[in-house]
Amino acid sequence: MNHQPSAILQPTTNNQRPSTNNQQLWPHNAPFALFLSHDIDQIHDRELFRILADLNHVRRMWTQGEKGNTALALRRVGRALFSPKPPERDFETILEIEARYGFRSTFFVLHDPYWSRQGPRYTLQSAALHRIIRMIQAAGCEVGLHGGYYRFNQPALYRESRLALQEALGVDAVGIRNHLLRFSYPETWLAQEAAGFKYDATFGHPDQLGPRGGRMFPFLSSTMNHEPSTINHEPSTLLVLPLTVMDVTLFRSLGLTGQQALDAAWGAITPVIQAGGLVSLLWHNNYFNEPEYRDWQWVYEQLLSRLAALKPWCGTGKEIVSCWS
Ligand SMILES: [Zn+2]
Repeated sequence: MNHQPSAILQPTTNNQRPSTNNQQLWPHNAPFALFLSHDIDQIHDRELFRILADLNHVRRMWTQGEKGNTALALRRVGRALFSPKPPERDFETILEIEARYGFRSTFFVLHDPYWSRQGPRYTLQSAALHRIIRMIQAAGCEVGLHGGYYRFNQPALYRESRLALQEALGVDAVGIRNHLLRFSYPETWLAQEAAGFKYDATFGHPDQLGPRGGRMFPFLSSTMNHEPSTINHEPSTLLVLPLTVMDVTLFRSLGLTGQQALDAAWGAITPVIQAGGLVSLLWHNNYFNEPEYRDWQWVYEQLLSRLAALKPWCGTGKEIVSCWS
């Protein structure tokens, strides 16, 4: 489904600190930068696809040895049916955790038809979503587009999503991250740029920790090629914010738990800190306040606490674009 030339999978020579006359790469002379982000795939507790996904999770635990806790998963299904969690709660929790350190983050809203395969399990017209967006904006955080699974290389469909966010939520999305990190080089970036986005936060491995291709700094999408370009287009203005660690990679792909997950995440983050680069984290809202996923939230809190102690500059995607240009 994805095809990338091998060159972009390998650590490269021009991925290190950009050469500047000025030593001050980040605002306030911070030693490194931090980009916190959340992909909003679902917001409702009592929702058909979510309940089916939980039951499927239980089935996989029984039949395929997937990590998890059957009793807690079933209890969540019961909660969804009889006493659903308010949609705002997980967002309040995320904002509260980040506010402890004065951090602000970026939330990517998924746009696709509700019933579509791999679609969002909410609509842009949902009153709960509107309340959540207002809460996010009031906290000084950013709202971007979470690009639909089948839109990942389609400029016209990206434009449609951008317009939908404008019309339904009054959001002018500057940045984008594709659902499930769907990415095709160079089509994804060309399509995103054509649709008017200024940055992409998709570039990362879904099943591996650490920056893809060793990329620790933002870079323009047109500087991806280290060989003569195979495509004929003008130099890009689309800034790529490479991903460092995603929650699902730690806990699902690698099957880690608790302290092990924290150690692995910190191991992936440390080289980026040492290089003075951009540490970029992706944690999904629907794993907060969940007894079964307690360590997902715990690791996020621990990482933020450790990072804060090192005094990074934390910016939303939009602010990183301004700072970088
Ligand atoms: Zn997603």
